Amino acid sequence: MNGEEALKRLLDGNKKYMSGTLAAKDVKKAREATKNGQHPFVTILCCSDSRVPPELVFDANVGEIFIVRNAGNCVDTLTLGSIEYGVEHLHTPLLVVLGHEKCGAVTAACQGNVCPPNIAAIMEKIKPAVDKKGNEGVEQTIVCNLDVVSNEIRRRSEIVRHLEKEKKLKVVEMKYYFEDGRVEIIA
Ligand SMILES: [Zn+2]
Repeated sequence: MNGEEALKRLLDGNKKYMSGTLAAKDVKKAREATKNGQHPFVTILCCSDSRVPPELVFDANVGEIFIVRNAGNCVDTLTLGSIEYGVEHLHTPLLVVLGHEKCGAVTAACQGNVCPPNIAAIMEKIKPAVDKKGNEGVEQTIVCNLDVVSNEIRRRSEIVRHLEKEKKLKVVEMKYYFEDGRVEIIA
């Protein structure tokens, strides 16, 4: 599977999710088939928000999506290491940075309130997007944050840069909407 095919599979899965009827899955069979190793087709960095579960949103089974999650879908060294594990070691041809509307982490960063130190570290990561688009509102900041994040991944990961250059990896930014469950390709 190449990046385009992986993307098509995600979007097809998302259509099923939007319709409210996921494909029947034999999780026992999938568990059995993957017990000695995983071959996911996509690596996804997404927000921890409980309303945006990638396996459901993209109608995927056990062993299909390599997921890296934190509030605000931010990048730090551990996140980068996990992404590199997905794209380099597991060879996923697609990397998705998935944000969502009304993101609590981005909203809090826009409000700029004082937070406990560990949460403040998340706010600090979202600040570049707030500085750029904060005055245009939360939704614009969420979209801008996707750009900030994918640029930071490229800047800090030689592995991602190399795979992208070799056309072995496609990087896509997406935004999720609660109302109908759709994902929109931002870039
Ligand atoms: Zn969020």
